[in-house]
Amino acid sequence: MVNNKPELENWAPYGQVKPVPANLRNWLMMLDQKEGKGPAYMRTEEAIQAIVASVPDEKERKKKLKEVESEAWEDFLDMTISQAILWAGTNTSPEEKPSEIQACEPYFIGSHSGASGTWVSGPEDLAPPEYFWGYNHMATVKGIFCAGDASGASSHKFSDGSHAEGRIAAKAALAYIVDNPEQPKVDAAQIEKLKKAILSPIATFEEFSGLTDNLDVNENYIKPKQFMYRLQKIMDEYAGGVATMFSTNKPSLERGLELLAFLKEDAEKLAAEDLHELTRCWENVHRMWQAEAHVRTVLFRDETRWPGYYFRADAPEIDNKNWKVFVNCKWDPKTDKWDVFKRDIIQIVD
Ligand SMILES: Cc1cc2nc3c(=O)[nH]c(=O)nc-3n(C[C@H](O)[C@H](O)[C@H](O)COP(=O)(O)OP(=O)(O)OC[C@H]3O[C@@H](n4cnc5c(N)ncnc54)[C@H](O)[C@@H]3O)c2cc1C
Repeated sequence: MVNNKPELENWAPYGQVKPVPANLRNWLMMLDQKEGKGPAYMRTEEAIQAIVASVPDEKERKKKLKEVESEAWEDFLDMTISQAILWAGTNTSPEEKPSEIQACEPYFIGSHSGASGTWVSGPEDLAPPEYFWGYNHMATVKGIFCAGDASGASSHKFSDGSHAEGRIAAKAALAYIVDNPEQPKVDAAQIEKLKKAILSPIATFEEFSGLTDNLDVNENYIKPKQFMYRLQKIMDEYAGGVATMFSTNKPSLERGLELLAFLKEDAEKLAAEDLHELTRCWENVHRMWQAEAHVRTVLFRDETRWPGYYFRADAPEIDNKNWKVFVNCKWDPKTDKWDVFKRDIIQIVD
């Protein structure tokens, strides 16, 4: 299947995303590229002209064109700002000429694609006992609530659904607070330790930045931008990014984990020049953990659940017999061990 045009019905791994999911579009684009048919274009001018052509009156048609054109800009400014910037930067009027699209480097968009995210409790009135543990949208960690792209087990979250989910989770969180009014016991020494750890990139920079005449070149620390490129490159090359046409395999994932372990060691040496870089440092650390969880689950799942988003080239088929399940992972801070395991998919509605 990997080298042939795929069958449409095989491309909705949990059956929900039909008819042409983004992962399929992605893969078709890569196949075209392999056949020498790149670059790929989004035919905005055809789509816009088709809408406008249905208006019979010429004056009304011009008015409609303006409307559709401004909607196109507004939609992209709302949703994918970089597309609007590209149009501006490449002198592209979307109503006049097609705009180029490219498969991109790896990034995480939570449950908007791939059913990834936190394992949260379902609602009391609908969820079977396996999916319900007291408070709607509470994670398996007591008192932590997640919604929208942060909560998993759905293959395609959207803006309005995320908003509604946010309200549901907030109400459940309030119920949890009302039911658990006692003040938590907090260890002051632990708080001090955390504060110090959070600010440590600033301290590292202050301590070592005077030792070289270029702030980016210093054997004692790594700046957040350098860290970001390194993380991005590991994920791209070993975890099925665009550099490998979204394909990976067991040995590559294992090598990726080795490189992520080195990166984790160096995370201790992140240095921040200012408060902006401090936020970037911590964003990087959080992404690094997310990346590791991702690699571990892709490695665990001995099949290709999301063709087009990534391929396990050594297990390129969707294997519903063994893998029509959710995969969860858990890290134990005491033992520094990961546990990766299956969770049943219980069909609640048809
Ligand atoms: C390319 C693309 C196209 C999409 N197209 C559509 C579409 O056409 N229609 C549609 O309905 N949906 C679309 N979506 C999906 C939709 O955008 C998401 O499902 C939705 O935005 C999720 O909302 P959220 O509140 O869960 O997460 P987000 O909107 O990601 O909000 C999370 C917020 O938390 C902030 N944050 C993160 N870490 C911290 C921290 N440590 N401290 C404080 N703040 C923090 C972030 O800055 C962010 O503002 C698209 C998504 C993408 C990526």
